Amino acid sequence: MEKNSAFQNALRQLASVKDKTGLDDNIYEQLKKPKRFIEVSVPVRMDNGNVRVFTGYRSQFNDARGPYKGGIRFHPNVSEDEVKALSMWMTWKTAVVDIPLGGGKGGVIVNPKELSAGELERLSRGYIRAIAPFIGERIDIPAPDVYTDPRIMAWMLDEYEQIVGHKAPGTITGKPLSIGGSRARGYSTAQGGFYVLEEIVKKMRLGKNSEISIQGFGNAGANMAEILYKNGYKITAVSDSKGGVSNSDGLDIKKLEEHKKQSGSVLGFSGGKDMGSDILETETDVLILAALENAVTADNADKVKAKLILELANGPVTPDGDGILDKKNTVIVPDILANAGGVGVSYLEQVQNAYMYYWSEEEVLAKLKEMMTKAFHDVWQAKEENKTTMRQGAYILAISRVAQAMEDRG
Ligand code: NAD
Repeated sequence: MEKNSAFQNALRQLASVKDKTGLDDNIYEQLKKPKRFIEVSVPVRMDNGNVRVFTGYRSQFNDARGPYKGGIRFHPNVSEDEVKALSMWMTWKTAVVDIPLGGGKGGVIVNPKELSAGELERLSRGYIRAIAPFIGERIDIPAPDVYTDPRIMAWMLDEYEQIVGHKAPGTITGKPLSIGGSRARGYSTAQGGFYVLEEIVKKMRLGKNSEISIQGFGNAGANMAEILYKNGYKITAVSDSKGGVSNSDGLDIKKLEEHKKQSGSVLGFSGGKDMGSDILETETDVLILAALENAVTADNADKVKAKLILELANGPVTPDGDGILDKKNTVIVPDILANAGGVGVSYLEQVQNAYMYYWSEEEVLAKLKEMMTKAFHDVWQAKEENKTTMRQGAYILAISRVAQAMEDRG
């Protein structure tokens, strides 16, 4: 049975392209571990007066191409293994979209839904105090990830600026607009995924009446649903952690969002019917994975019916799952390309912070579109030249770029 360690999966993906990349053994050895891994304990005064100690991590994987960059996840399943894997994937992602950044990731083991707003603020400030000596706009730049948002980024930046004694907005991205955030950052992951989807749909000659299913209805998944809906695509099934809802004529995404806001889930939506089976196994042309890692594994890959999978989540298909899908000729647009729009606009946010000059939404979107479309065609070319899958093409491209920077540094 396949072990779903995200970091072991990330290492297998790296190993699978080592020879095709012509990777030097010395560089390969360095790419198997983060350059620095930090574990912190964060004491937080809870509302009842007791102190609870939370465990947090920051993994600084590689900074050959620029400062470490990656989000902070607040989730009960955060682990050393997961944070390391996500930081390795960030390294490849910034390289695929060719921005001058490296890869990092952070996380705290917590269920934020169980905390009051005050407790969440004290935890966010405490975590950033603990890692403050290791971050900075030219060192390591955090951002939001699962269950963290602009409000949390604002607390973190405020705490950091109090520690260093000056304004340093480029230290954290995904901030609210009022303190130096970028327009379009909130939905940038989905928007970037959409630009990539439009390219692959042309290559595969899939029309707008293709059926699209989306696993996960949070920042990435719900924004993607909204963008697709606005652009005339038909979304026939959507799920969240409580279950799924479907409608073969297409779901009204605006109404579904309202329903989720009111009830806390997509379940029970009057414009569709609750799904009895797993959304991953549903009849569909396109499956967008926008929940968490290890959704498609050796156990269920043969039941996936989609012709095309777009990985908006990080690591949603395990290497064994990948192998099974590949045999069935399922096309997979890999995470390190498909969800790079988030870090793409984070980079544009940093550039605006450095210039102290801010672009309109249209300007940001035009830059994002150019970045994502070029990345798609670079990956496609690497795939064609090496006669591989898109995932392997993306890895070959990314690892070659990182290795080149490491070699040039000597
Ligand atoms: P989120 O917390 O906003 O949303 C996650 C969604 O997944 C929620 O709707 C949750 O109910 C759902 N979910 C959880 N388990 C599920 C399951 N078993 N089946 C169906 N749905 C399930 O998080 P997000 O920011 O949207 O992130 C989702 C994924 O996208 C993560 O892998 C994250 O690392 C990746 N990602 C996010 C961004 C970003 O900018 N938000 C950027 C790059 C990658």
